[in-house]
Amino acid sequence: MKPIRETNHTSPSSDQPSRNGRAAKAETSGWTDWKWQMKNRIRSLDELQKWVSLSREELEGLERTTSYFRWRITPYYASLMDPDNPQCPVRRQVVPHADEMDDDVDIDALDPLEEQAHSPVKNLIHNYKDRVAFCVTTECAVYCRYCLRKRMVGDGTQALNREELQLAIDYLADHGEIRDVLLTGGDPLSLNDENLEWIISRLRAIPHIDIIRIGTRYPVLNPFRITDELCRIISENHPVWINTHFNHAAEITGDARHAIDKLTRAGVPVGNQTVLLKGINDDAETLKSLFHELVTCRVRPYYLYHAQLIGGTRHFRTTIERGMELMEQLRGRLSGFAIPLYVLDTPHGKIPLTPNGFRGRDGSYVSVQSYEGEIWREYNPADL
Ligand SMILES: *Cc1c(COP(=O)(O)O)cnc(C)c1O
Ligand code: SF4
Repeated sequence: MKPIRETNHTSPSSDQPSRNGRAAKAETSGWTDWKWQMKNRIRSLDELQKWVSLSREELEGLERTTSYFRWRITPYYASLMDPDNPQCPVRRQVVPHADEMDDDVDIDALDPLEEQAHSPVKNLIHNYKDRVAFCVTTECAVYCRYCLRKRMVGDGTQALNREELQLAIDYLADHGEIRDVLLTGGDPLSLNDENLEWIISRLRAIPHIDIIRIGTRYPVLNPFRITDELCRIISENHPVWINTHFNHAAEITGDARHAIDKLTRAGVPVGNQTVLLKGINDDAETLKSLFHELVTCRVRPYYLYHAQLIGGTRHFRTTIERGMELMEQLRGRLSGFAIPLYVLDTPHGKIPLTPNGFRGRDGSYVSVQSYEGEIWREYNPADL
């Protein structure tokens, strides 16, 4: 196990909410300023205790895990945590826990998708022919305990500088087969507007790049990042698609809805990826209400990711059969556009794990099964 490198060590600022965090919220000026949220991220035990009464396992997690995976929580996201319930689905995503150290996967197993092997240029993952994932920053608003990119998030030494960004952009310009660039990280919206516009406008100037996508958790973790200025930058570079990352309906607050509304009004099609997480969203009712609420925000559920084999995340993983069973329970009980595709990400791309009702062929008939269990035999001669 390699200890992490702390590269962005900033001392806590003085305008932290000083008493009980929750009570401080209403009277805190700056609350709705995304930079204030970043500057005032919770990063010490004392600060965290102003928001929640920590369980023994969380205290142990804070002590034992922090040298392997950093933690930070925006005051906004902390305000969604249940102060008295350690099982709170918001809290479990971000507060370190002793279970993270109890994993049969080597905690160094941090790149199961072999992303680094698929990177022709630093932080540019070219796995599919026509599209790439471009890790433009390593910073995030919050560090999620189950993160797929634990190997790099929060580590400024792995971030690209301007020259390296330019090298990646040159590679994209030289590869006419690439039509779609997904900006990811870390979280691309951690960049300030100037840097973000620098990147997006350079991509837009490459004639063969049709689609620019941004994968971001800011609408969930710090929704105030979605400013008028950001919407201007995006709308001047369309088509830009955004995929965000809500895991539970408790995250869909008025502030989050407002952020999404600004994006959709700026002409951005917004999708959502969810990670299937044991004890957080691994039951049909929880998923159903999450996907339904997303649709009410005009967000299209896109992927449900099976939780990857990442060190320190065993307590979050379900079996693939359980995931398929949940998808089967949703089929027919939500509009088709409210149901994402359940996928396993692999070094060979994303592989759908969705049951489809197909029950086999019998001569000129195929049998299919409805969501309520009825079998329908469809005349479908094999020699058509
Ligand atoms: C997920 C992913 C993409 C985008 O894939 P879509 O299925 O088109 O959303 C592109 N590149 C990499 C490396 C990815 O992991
Ligand atoms: S915001 Fe995304 S990249 Fe950042 S820690 Fe969370 S899951 Fe990982």
